[in-house]
This record gives sequence, C-alpha cells and structure tokens, in this order.
Amino acid sequence: MTSLAGKVAVVTGSTSGIGLGIARALGGAGADLMLNGFGEPAAIEALRAALAREFKVRAHYDGADMAKPAEVRRLIERATSELGRVDIVVNNAGIQHVAPMEEFPDERWDAVLAVNLSASFHTIKAALPQMKQRGWGRIINIASAHGLVASANKVAYVAAKHGLVGMTKVATLETADSGITCNAICPGWVLTPLVQKQIDELARREKIPEAEARRRLLAEKQPSGEFVTPEQIGALALFLCSDAAAQIRGAALSIDGGWTAQ
Ligand code: NAD
Repeated sequence: MTSLAGKVAVVTGSTSGIGLGIARALGGAGADLMLNGFGEPAAIEALRAALAREFKVRAHYDGADMAKPAEVRRLIERATSELGRVDIVVNNAGIQHVAPMEEFPDERWDAVLAVNLSASFHTIKAALPQMKQRGWGRIINIASAHGLVASANKVAYVAAKHGLVGMTKVATLETADSGITCNAICPGWVLTPLVQKQIDELARREKIPEAEARRRLLAEKQPSGEFVTPEQIGALALFLCSDAAAQIRGAALSIDGGWTAQ
C-alpha cells in the first residue's frame, strides 16, 4: 500500500469525474488535498468536507479558473501557504468542443488550449522550484487517447492533448537528475459529464435512444466496449506516486480499452 501521508496534492478539476476519482485515490492514501474546479458552492463544500472526513486528511478548495494564468499561479501559492507544500500536481481540468475546423469558433480554440494545455505549463512552472528544493515530486498530466491519435472535429482538444504529451517529456528531461517524475495518463472513454454531453448530442443528432448512443460511441473507438472508470484512473495515478514508479518518466500511459492499439 502506497502511503502519501505528509504529502500535499493539488488536483485541478477535481469537483467532478476523473479529477474527483484521482483526489479520492490520493486522499485515500493519506495525501492532503487542494481541490479545484467549478460547481455549485454548497455542493463543493459538502464534497470537500466529506473527503476530509472519509480519509482523515486536510482537504481545501480553491475555485481558480484554469483558463487564467494568474489564478493558476495563485492556486499553487494558496496550496503552499495553507497546506505547507505541494508535492504532487495533477493537471486534470479539461474542456471539449466538437466542430469541424472551418466552423470551429476562435474563442473555443483559445479556451480549450488555455484550460487543457497552458494551465499545465503554469502549474508546473509554479510548483517545480519547491519540488526541486526537496528533491521529490510527482507531476501527472491527464492527457487522452487524443494525445496520441486524432479524431475528426476535435482540433483544439487533439492539439492541446498532443501538446500536453510533449510538455510531459520536456518536464521529464528538465527534472531527470532529481526525484521528480512527470507522466501523462491517456484515458479512452470515461463516462463523466464531459462525455455524457457528447452522448446526448449523438442521441439528439441521430434520433436514437441514449443507451444506443452510448453503445455506438464505445463501438466506434474502444474495442473493449466498456468505459474506463475514474477509480481505475485514480489507481493508476496513485501508482505513479509510489516508489515503485520512480523510474517511470516521460511516459504517455494508455488506459483506453484498446483504443490506441488499433
Ligand atoms: P468533467 O467535465 O467531469 O470534469 C472536468 C473538471 O474540470 C470539473 O471539475 C470542472 O469543474 C473542471 N473545469 C473545467 N473547466 C475549468 C476551468 N476553466 N478551471 C477550473 N476547473 C475547470 O470531465 P472529465 O471527463 O472528468 O475530464 C477530466 C480530464 O480528463 C480532462 O482533462 C479530459 O480532457 C480528460 N479526459 C477525459 C476523458 C473522458 O472520456 N471523460 C477521456 C480522456 C481524457
């Protein structure tokens, strides 16, 4: 069992989906948590308190908008001042927009790049000095199967996720002589609000029941025919934080039901 007692983890976009699954896995191993993400304030406060109670860790929350570099920097500063340090950064917050390139709104391009790519640059830049000082750190970038292969109509997302895989390699080389590791996790379809939106759109467009839209979405890309779960991604992130994973560096780890094996 990996113990993260005494360590502090910042997980961006942890009010929902995969980020919440990762926060639960790291908190379950004893890490203090800085949560982040959007949502209804009372629901977020309930979630924060429940995590702190369930795992007997300190759980704080900061509502930084990952599209805004100054707020991203403040998130790391606040985690450091309130929780004492930042040992683990999980860059998870992400958004999607689906449209053909010639119709893709400029504003959506900027937003997807800001949240899915630039935010990770700003968190890593802000957290690295203290990680280097202590000689230990874990940076986990939640990329995607779309960090390795493309799909039509997702130009901003695919570009951002490929960029994030590249950023992972640079951070790895710049920390190679230390106990800091940086890796990307590349999930296939995970049934979260981000994907539910795409299922709903498919059901509407094709005039099919939701269950059929779900089946088609999986059948098109994911040979296992099953969704990856946030718990499975949380378990992989926890493994990357363990001593056993100290030499896994600069990897883009697929957890995708066979999507990118095709
Ligand atoms: P989700 O919509 O359930 O959760 C996204 C989280 O990010 C939420 O907490 C949301 O509040 C937060 N967020 C969004 N914009 C933000 C902003 N500007 N500032 C701060 N927080 C913000 O989505 P998810 O499916 O859990 O996605 C999490 C990550 O996993 C994303 O990076 C996504 O690209 C990636 N991913 C998801 C899938 C999938 O199938 N669901 C597959 C591969 C990769």
